[in-house]
Amino acid sequence: MHDGIVAGTANVWAPMSSDEERGLLFLPTSSPSPDFWGGRRPGNDEHANSVVALRAETGELVWSFQTTHHDVWDYDLPAQPTLARIDTGAGIFFGPTVGKLLNNLEASGYRPEQVDEVYITHMHLDHIGGLIKDGKRVFPNAVVRAAQQEADYWLSKAHREAAPEGAKGDFDAAIKALQPYVSAGKFKPFDGDANLVPGIRAVAAPGHTPGHTVYLAESKGQTLVLWGDSDQIVEADYGRAYAAAIPMARFQLLSETGHSAQLETPDQVMRAIWDSADV
Ligand SMILES: [Zn+2]
Repeated sequence: MHDGIVAGTANVWAPMSSDEERGLLFLPTSSPSPDFWGGRRPGNDEHANSVVALRAETGELVWSFQTTHHDVWDYDLPAQPTLARIDTGAGIFFGPTVGKLLNNLEASGYRPEQVDEVYITHMHLDHIGGLIKDGKRVFPNAVVRAAQQEADYWLSKAHREAAPEGAKGDFDAAIKALQPYVSAGKFKPFDGDANLVPGIRAVAAPGHTPGHTVYLAESKGQTLVLWGDSDQIVEADYGRAYAAAIPMARFQLLSETGHSAQLETPDQVMRAIWDSADV
């Protein structure tokens, strides 16, 4: 409720993080309403689309930073600053009201030249647009990493030519965002499952795109699973082979993260994922 208007519920969907020394809990809140385009929503939707810091002991609000009043696609914010970026947001591709990654990175006390590695889950434009600005690399010292299978698909002129007219723009966007890194020798694809830096592993999860990758960040016996859009089981554009491959990747992921079970059908895998996520 804001200014007498009921505007939905901004929940916390992405992982929370905490700062034990300072006793703070960081909540990345979502859009108040998942109806995609929020341009006509009234009010400021205070604390929605925000990183909200609470005093862990009392739940009291310490500060809240709102990235935008109404997002356009129900994005989930990251709760914690990190020097290994996972995806880069829509950047230049979705108009002037989004693509605020750089502002938010700098507000967190980091400069883009400090980022060492950028991991791409997949090359849809809303995940890679933040890689470039004015045709130049946004992260001048970073190595960009993604699955070889993803690069082979999206950066291929032959695949672009074979794609239907309406889909060619997706290929153009991928080439535009990645090419400056390829030219500078700063794009290093990996093959399927791979150890990237200590504590971060890539797990192949094709389906949403041919080389979609899930990243596991592991620390002190705990695992954070980061994925892009792999929860969309079937995307007809890429065919049944990839749709069938997803449950295998998911099964492996669940086993590795301690959720082992006899899971055979996609339905069982999905149910286990939702159960383990406690939603
Ligand atoms: Zn996608």
